[in-house]
Amino acid sequence: MKIIRYPVLLTAILIISIFTRQAHAGDVIFQTSTLDALMDGVYDGNFAFGELKKHGNFGLGTLNDLDGEMIGLDGVYYQVKSDGKVSILPDDAKTPFAVVTFFEADESLPLYKEISCKELESYIESLFPTKNILYAVKIDGRFDYVKTRSVPKQQKPFPPLTEAVKHETYFEFKNIKGTMVGFWLPDYMKDLNATGFHLHFISDDKESGGHVLDCTAKDIKIGIDYSRGLDISLPDTSGFYNANLSGTSGSDVKKVETGKD
Ligand code: ZN
Repeated sequence: MKIIRYPVLLTAILIISIFTRQAHAGDVIFQTSTLDALMDGVYDGNFAFGELKKHGNFGLGTLNDLDGEMIGLDGVYYQVKSDGKVSILPDDAKTPFAVVTFFEADESLPLYKEISCKELESYIESLFPTKNILYAVKIDGRFDYVKTRSVPKQQKPFPPLTEAVKHETYFEFKNIKGTMVGFWLPDYMKDLNATGFHLHFISDDKESGGHVLDCTAKDIKIGIDYSRGLDISLPDTSGFYNANLSGTSGSDVKKVETGKD
């Protein structure tokens, strides 16, 4: 299927010259579709994982028909289904929404202390030189506790995401080694993507994972990849063309992402 892309119109390159630290030349975050489209029930994407690999080796998203949570790590894309099973996605599997990059840490530091996800997020934010650019974030190591969720495969006509997540399943893991993969995006991106932190988890044994709701980290390494570029590919599908993208409420997005009002 033909893919319409608007790299010139939608590629925002923000050059912040006042910071001496330079992001790597290839530090562009790539996303397929928009979060508002996913909120509106556009779950039939036409973007294959084989193609996605050309845009990143690291990231998160979901699968067509909203069939679970997706995590990309070290060039391999995984699916965590609503029964908790993890599998490697074939190149011809498709995604309606994914956010990826070629991860290369600009900043990397260990943290040997018990810390909640909330405290960890505040700490990572305190390391950012500005809240006006984009960041890919990788947190790997040992966690005392991780709570994740996954969502069940949906049937057409697709319900909006606020309805679909009512049937999500939760998973709790204790004393587990793994990696959180995700992004921190500024508030001005709220119609395009989740703002603030959005993290997915996969265990080292690749048997557990999901969209992160809570955690207690123990011995971890934090990697932050500064990014000043955004490339968006909009789906050439009737679902996307006919979606109503004019008025998604920020509180609905928060509910979907955090499970809280
Ligand atoms: Zn997620």
